[in-house]
Amino acid sequence: MTVTLGVLAGPAQTPELADPQQPIARADDLGLGRGDGCFETCRVVLGPDGAAYVERLAEHLERLDASARAMDLPAPDPVRWAQLCALVVEAWTPPAAGEGALKLMLTRGVEGAGLPTSLALLSPIGAAPMRQRVTGVRVALLTSGRPSTAYADAPWLLGGVKSLSYGLNMAAMREAARRGDDDVILLSTDGLVLEAPTSTVLWFTGGVLATTPHAGSGILIGTTQRALFDAAVQAELPTAIRTARAEDLLGADGVWLASSVRGIAEVTHIDGTPVAMDSALTSKLRRLAGFDQPLA
Ligand code: PLP
Repeated sequence: MTVTLGVLAGPAQTPELADPQQPIARADDLGLGRGDGCFETCRVVLGPDGAAYVERLAEHLERLDASARAMDLPAPDPVRWAQLCALVVEAWTPPAAGEGALKLMLTRGVEGAGLPTSLALLSPIGAAPMRQRVTGVRVALLTSGRPSTAYADAPWLLGGVKSLSYGLNMAAMREAARRGDDDVILLSTDGLVLEAPTSTVLWFTGGVLATTPHAGSGILIGTTQRALFDAAVQAELPTAIRTARAEDLLGADGVWLASSVRGIAEVTHIDGTPVAMDSALTSKLRRLAGFDQPLA
């Protein structure tokens, strides 16, 4: 099957396969009613031996754990989750492109039951992200409505937590579509670049690859950005974590959005203004981030 689903079933949280066509959560699940839970989206790729595996699974499970702890959810057992992922990946028939998106979801479950709902759903990657790896993305600048320090000392705002409450992120993406753009770069009310609704912002200026700081700003630390920066250090490409304003991106030698499934997408325009692009550097960043497989 090109879509496979697994669950951690019952009080023992036993990894089991489930039918992705059948209902899986109760109507009173707090994840459904309140977005009360957290998630991860990982890329599944084929290894040199042809077997599918989850890319950077340990990093995703660490972040799921951090999100769960920040939300006072039961800490996900990394061994059980890894078993669940292995079960789902093994049952999967990869599509021609040979890649998939694995969504791990952990909700608070039914009120008072004390048993989380734990799901892993593996599907083919959508047409838009596959296309945007090649074409790049036009982005709109939108306000996040909050200052860049809003999340400092306010853990209840769930800054840096990948909670299931992505309604605002999706609304921002729809606003971008209304403006004829593909994606969004969010700005704080004091004018600092934050992140995109589902990716990390990167830019290259003066020979340095940079991204935005997360402390206090509430942005999510991206597994792709971290892996890319680690590889960049090995490749002697200087990196930095620093603040930026919109004009810094417009004056940069290149701007990208980084995320697990779409990879490194070149930003072609910001609010309709063309951005400098360097295809050799984009190829290098893609390679360093592990996105050098031929595109199907
Ligand atoms: N920022 C936000 C808000 C995200 O939702 C995501 C991923 O979904 C990212 C950044 C990129 O994270 P990663 O590279 O781990 O996919």
